[in-house]
Amino acid sequence: MNVILLGPPGAGKGTQAQFITQRYGIPQISTGDMLRSAVKVGSDLGLKVKDIMASGGLVSDEIINNLIENKISNPEYKNRIIFDGFPRNLEQAKILDNLLKKYNQQMSLALNLKVDNQILVKRITGRVTCSACNKTFNTFFDPPKNCELKECGQRKLITRSDDNEETIVKRLKTYDEKTFPVLDYYLKKGIMKNIDGMQEINAISDQLFTIIAAVRS
Ligand code: AMP
Repeated sequence: MNVILLGPPGAGKGTQAQFITQRYGIPQISTGDMLRSAVKVGSDLGLKVKDIMASGGLVSDEIINNLIENKISNPEYKNRIIFDGFPRNLEQAKILDNLLKKYNQQMSLALNLKVDNQILVKRITGRVTCSACNKTFNTFFDPPKNCELKECGQRKLITRSDDNEETIVKRLKTYDEKTFPVLDYYLKKGIMKNIDGMQEINAISDQLFTIIAAVRS
């Protein structure tokens, strides 16, 4: 099945996508991760998107659509993608529909993680990722000592360059203006479900698993 994870920056899309991947073996496709990798290696794409990402704006639909078509067209991913961070505006949602049609696939669910703004700011400013196992922690809610003790033994934790208070305000504004209308698009298609994203991490996954299990059966 194909699933979209929707929700503002910091809602927990990446974290929950990893849980869904672990449980159901459906790969996560994160446009943000793909772009960050390009910036890290300094590719042409990376150079093109670096500044706009740092400012909290959206990179062009053309760039994103190429990245997405690359994945959707790959038989390995046929009808088995968790879309994380895409679509980010109505144009991308419509293009996704066209690509799914072109490659004979369907969207099963759009899951919307709902979280209040004050919590989002804490989740974003506290977010750190282990450079070795890619697990995400939060210095307020899930201190990274867990990783050092239990996960991969690494201590190199990195903070995303756009996870600062100044950029967050812009990212939340971009979400309200550009991404929020996408919810209505999937609501009208009858495949959107709201999830209470304010709960504890495992309680959120339980809600997601229940919905996914019902649709898969
Ligand atoms: P994320 O990791 O999803 O929060 O994305 C980080 C940044 O990458 C965003 O603030 C945007 O600048 C860019 N980005 C990620 N996905 C998209 C997308 N679907 N459309 C446009 N820009 C995106």
